[in-house]
Amino acid sequence: MATLNVNRAEFIKSAASPAQFIKSSVPAVVFAGKSNVGKSSVINRVLNRKNFARVGASPGKTIHVNYFLIDEKIYFVDLPGYGYAKVSQSERDRWGKLMENFFASEGLFDLGVMIVDSRHKPTADDITMAQWFKASGCPLVVVANKLDKLKKSEIVPNLALIKATLELDDDAVVIPFSAEKGQGRELLMSEIVSII
Ligand code: GDP
Repeated sequence: MATLNVNRAEFIKSAASPAQFIKSSVPAVVFAGKSNVGKSSVINRVLNRKNFARVGASPGKTIHVNYFLIDEKIYFVDLPGYGYAKVSQSERDRWGKLMENFFASEGLFDLGVMIVDSRHKPTADDITMAQWFKASGCPLVVVANKLDKLKKSEIVPNLALIKATLELDDDAVVIPFSAEKGQGRELLMSEIVSII
Protein backbone atom coordinates (compact mmCIF):
# COMPACT_ATOMS: atom_id res chain seq x y z
CA MET A 1 0.00 0.00 0.00
CA ALA A 2 1.30 3.45 -0.92
CA THR A 3 1.91 5.92 1.86
CA LEU A 4 0.85 9.54 2.07
CA ASN A 5 2.59 12.13 4.21
CA VAL A 6 -0.34 14.38 5.08
CA ASN A 7 2.00 16.89 6.66
CA ARG A 8 3.08 17.82 3.15
CA ALA A 9 -0.07 19.58 1.97
CA GLU A 10 -0.24 22.74 -0.08
CA PHE A 11 -3.03 24.85 -1.50
CA ILE A 12 -2.64 25.02 -5.28
CA LYS A 13 -5.52 27.08 -6.61
CA SER A 14 -9.13 28.05 -6.62
CA ALA A 15 -10.82 27.43 -9.98
CA ALA A 16 -13.81 29.65 -10.76
CA SER A 17 -14.25 28.48 -14.35
CA PRO A 18 -13.75 25.21 -16.28
CA ALA A 19 -10.61 26.54 -18.00
CA GLN A 20 -8.95 26.56 -14.58
CA PHE A 21 -9.72 22.91 -13.71
CA ILE A 22 -6.56 20.85 -13.29
CA LYS A 23 -6.08 17.93 -15.65
CA SER A 24 -3.03 16.01 -14.57
CA SER A 25 -1.47 12.56 -14.43
CA VAL A 26 -1.38 12.99 -10.65
CA PRO A 27 -4.40 11.11 -9.25
CA ALA A 28 -7.20 13.18 -7.75
CA VAL A 29 -9.86 12.57 -5.13
CA VAL A 30 -12.84 14.88 -5.20
CA PHE A 31 -14.84 15.86 -2.10
CA ALA A 32 -18.48 16.91 -2.40
CA GLY A 33 -21.26 17.62 0.06
CA LYS A 34 -23.95 20.07 0.99
CA SER A 35 -23.04 23.23 2.86
CA ASN A 36 -22.45 22.66 6.55
CA VAL A 37 -22.27 18.86 6.29
CA GLY A 38 -18.69 19.09 7.55
CA LYS A 39 -16.78 18.76 4.27
CA SER A 40 -13.98 21.09 5.42
CA SER A 41 -13.88 19.30 8.77
CA VAL A 42 -13.56 15.89 7.07
CA ILE A 43 -10.69 17.14 4.88
CA ASN A 44 -9.01 18.68 7.90
CA ARG A 45 -9.43 15.44 9.85
CA VAL A 46 -7.89 13.41 7.01
CA LEU A 47 -4.95 15.84 6.93
CA ASN A 48 -4.69 16.03 10.74
CA ARG A 49 -5.10 19.80 10.56
CA LYS A 50 -7.35 22.27 12.27
CA ASN A 51 -7.70 25.00 9.69
CA PHE A 52 -6.39 23.84 6.36
CA ALA A 53 -9.61 23.60 4.40
CA ARG A 54 -11.73 26.36 5.87
CA VAL A 55 -14.37 25.47 8.42
CA GLY A 56 -17.53 27.50 8.78
CA ALA A 57 -16.81 29.75 5.79
CA SER A 58 -20.00 31.61 4.85
CA PRO A 59 -22.03 28.72 3.42
CA GLY A 60 -22.71 28.71 -0.28
CA LYS A 61 -20.67 31.83 -0.91
CA THR A 62 -17.59 30.24 -2.40
CA ILE A 63 -18.41 28.87 -5.83
CA HIS A 64 -14.93 27.66 -6.55
CA VAL A 65 -13.24 24.32 -7.00
CA ASN A 66 -10.27 24.30 -4.62
CA TYR A 67 -7.19 22.23 -5.30
CA PHE A 68 -4.75 20.96 -2.71
CA LEU A 69 -1.69 18.85 -3.50
CA ILE A 70 -0.80 16.32 -0.83
CA ASP A 71 2.74 14.94 -0.60
CA GLU A 72 3.12 15.68 -4.32
CA LYS A 73 1.23 12.42 -4.88
CA ILE A 74 -2.46 13.23 -4.96
CA TYR A 75 -4.80 16.18 -5.46
CA PHE A 76 -7.61 16.80 -3.03
CA VAL A 77 -10.30 18.56 -5.05
CA ASP A 78 -12.81 20.42 -2.89
CA LEU A 79 -16.08 21.09 -4.74
CA PRO A 80 -18.26 24.01 -3.64
CA GLY A 81 -20.96 23.07 -1.11
CA TYR A 82 -24.57 22.98 -2.26
CA GLY A 83 -28.08 23.24 -0.92
CA TYR A 84 -27.74 26.31 1.24
CA ALA A 85 -31.20 27.88 1.46
CA LYS A 86 -30.15 31.54 1.47
CA VAL A 87 -28.24 31.44 -1.80
CA SER A 88 -29.63 33.51 -4.70
CA GLN A 89 -30.90 31.88 -7.87
CA SER A 90 -28.00 33.33 -9.88
CA GLU A 91 -25.49 31.74 -7.52
CA ARG A 92 -27.40 28.46 -7.69
CA ASP A 93 -27.17 28.63 -11.49
CA ARG A 94 -23.47 29.40 -11.33
CA TRP A 95 -22.96 26.36 -9.08
CA GLY A 96 -24.98 24.15 -11.47
CA LYS A 97 -23.03 25.30 -14.53
CA LEU A 98 -19.66 24.80 -12.87
CA MET A 99 -20.61 21.31 -11.64
CA GLU A 100 -22.08 20.27 -14.99
CA ASN A 101 -18.83 21.31 -16.61
CA PHE A 102 -16.78 19.52 -14.00
CA PHE A 103 -18.60 16.22 -14.36
CA ALA A 104 -18.81 16.49 -18.16
CA SER A 105 -15.02 16.74 -18.43
CA GLU A 106 -13.08 13.50 -18.68
CA GLY A 107 -10.16 12.68 -16.44
CA LEU A 108 -10.56 15.30 -13.72
CA PHE A 109 -10.67 12.78 -10.88
CA ASP A 110 -10.16 9.14 -9.97
CA LEU A 111 -12.19 8.76 -6.79
CA GLY A 112 -15.28 10.51 -5.44
CA VAL A 113 -15.86 11.14 -1.76
CA MET A 114 -19.38 12.28 -1.06
CA ILE A 115 -20.10 13.54 2.42
CA VAL A 116 -23.62 13.25 3.83
CA ASP A 117 -25.09 13.83 7.28
CA SER A 118 -25.48 10.50 9.07
CA ARG A 119 -28.51 11.86 10.96
CA HIS A 120 -30.67 12.58 7.93
CA LYS A 121 -32.09 11.09 4.78
CA PRO A 122 -29.99 12.40 1.85
CA THR A 123 -31.53 15.44 0.13
CA ALA A 124 -32.59 15.76 -3.52
CA ASP A 125 -29.30 17.62 -4.13
CA ASP A 126 -27.38 14.73 -2.55
CA ILE A 127 -29.15 12.31 -4.89
CA THR A 128 -28.22 14.47 -7.91
CA MET A 129 -24.61 14.58 -6.78
CA ALA A 130 -24.53 10.80 -6.29
CA GLN A 131 -25.90 10.35 -9.82
CA TRP A 132 -23.15 12.55 -11.24
CA PHE A 133 -20.56 10.46 -9.45
CA LYS A 134 -22.09 7.18 -10.59
CA ALA A 135 -22.23 8.43 -14.20
CA SER A 136 -18.51 9.25 -14.01
CA GLY A 137 -17.66 5.57 -13.68
CA CYS A 138 -15.12 6.36 -10.94
CA PRO A 139 -15.39 4.61 -7.58
CA LEU A 140 -17.44 6.48 -5.01
CA VAL A 141 -17.05 6.45 -1.24
CA VAL A 142 -19.87 7.89 0.87
CA VAL A 143 -18.82 9.40 4.18
CA ALA A 144 -21.69 9.51 6.71
CA ASN A 145 -20.43 12.36 8.89
CA LYS A 146 -21.44 13.58 12.38
CA LEU A 147 -21.69 10.00 13.63
CA ASP A 148 -21.04 11.34 17.14
CA LYS A 149 -24.51 12.87 17.05
CA LEU A 150 -26.25 9.49 16.55
CA LYS A 151 -27.51 7.09 19.18
CA LYS A 152 -25.95 3.66 18.79
CA SER A 153 -29.30 2.17 17.78
CA GLU A 154 -29.62 4.68 14.93
CA ILE A 155 -26.38 3.81 13.15
CA VAL A 156 -27.40 0.69 11.21
CA PRO A 157 -30.83 1.96 10.05
CA ASN A 158 -29.47 5.39 9.13
CA LEU A 159 -26.66 3.92 7.04
CA ALA A 160 -29.18 1.65 5.30
CA LEU A 161 -31.42 4.65 4.55
CA ILE A 162 -28.46 6.55 3.06
CA LYS A 163 -27.53 3.60 0.85
CA ALA A 164 -31.10 3.08 -0.30
CA THR A 165 -31.83 6.77 -0.93
CA LEU A 166 -28.65 7.29 -2.94
CA GLU A 167 -29.33 3.98 -4.75
CA LEU A 168 -25.82 2.76 -4.08
CA ASP A 169 -24.65 -0.67 -5.21
CA ASP A 170 -24.52 -3.36 -2.54
CA ASP A 171 -20.74 -3.27 -2.58
CA ALA A 172 -20.56 0.54 -2.25
CA VAL A 173 -18.37 1.80 0.57
CA VAL A 174 -20.27 3.82 3.17
CA ILE A 175 -18.04 4.97 6.00
CA PRO A 176 -19.53 5.95 9.34
CA PHE A 177 -17.45 9.01 10.20
CA SER A 178 -16.99 11.72 12.77
CA ALA A 179 -14.77 14.61 11.73
CA GLU A 180 -15.07 15.79 15.31
CA LYS A 181 -13.99 12.55 17.03
CA GLY A 182 -11.92 10.94 14.27
CA GLN A 183 -13.98 7.76 13.74
CA GLY A 184 -13.68 6.39 10.22
CA ARG A 185 -10.46 8.23 9.37
CA GLU A 186 -8.36 5.09 8.85
CA LEU A 187 -10.90 3.54 6.50
CA LEU A 188 -11.31 6.73 4.46
CA MET A 189 -7.54 7.09 4.31
CA SER A 190 -7.13 3.55 2.94
CA GLU A 191 -9.70 4.28 0.21
CA ILE A 192 -7.90 7.51 -0.71
CA VAL A 193 -4.45 5.94 -0.73
CA SER A 194 -5.72 3.12 -2.97
CA ILE A 195 -5.75 5.43 -6.03
CA ILE A 196 -2.09 6.45 -5.70
P1 GDP B 1 -18.74 22.50 5.36
O1 GDP B 1 -19.59 23.71 5.10
O2 GDP B 1 -19.35 21.27 4.79
O3 GDP B 1 -17.29 22.66 4.99
O4 GDP B 1 -18.82 22.24 6.94
P2 GDP B 1 -17.79 22.61 8.11
O5 GDP B 1 -16.61 21.71 8.08
O6 GDP B 1 -17.56 24.08 8.11
O7 GDP B 1 -18.67 22.17 9.38
C1 GDP B 1 -19.94 22.72 9.63
C2 GDP B 1 -20.26 22.61 11.12
O8 GDP B 1 -20.43 21.24 11.49
C3 GDP B 1 -19.13 23.15 12.00
O9 GDP B 1 -19.74 23.80 13.11
C4 GDP B 1 -18.39 21.91 12.44
O10 GDP B 1 -17.75 22.07 13.69
C5 GDP B 1 -19.53 20.90 12.53
N1 GDP B 1 -19.06 19.50 12.30
C6 GDP B 1 -18.36 19.03 11.26
N2 GDP B 1 -18.13 17.72 11.37
C7 GDP B 1 -18.69 17.33 12.53
C8 GDP B 1 -18.80 16.05 13.22
O11 GDP B 1 -18.32 15.00 12.78
N3 GDP B 1 -19.49 16.06 14.39
C9 GDP B 1 -20.06 17.18 14.91
N4 GDP B 1 -20.72 17.07 16.06
N5 GDP B 1 -19.97 18.37 14.30
C10 GDP B 1 -19.30 18.45 13.13
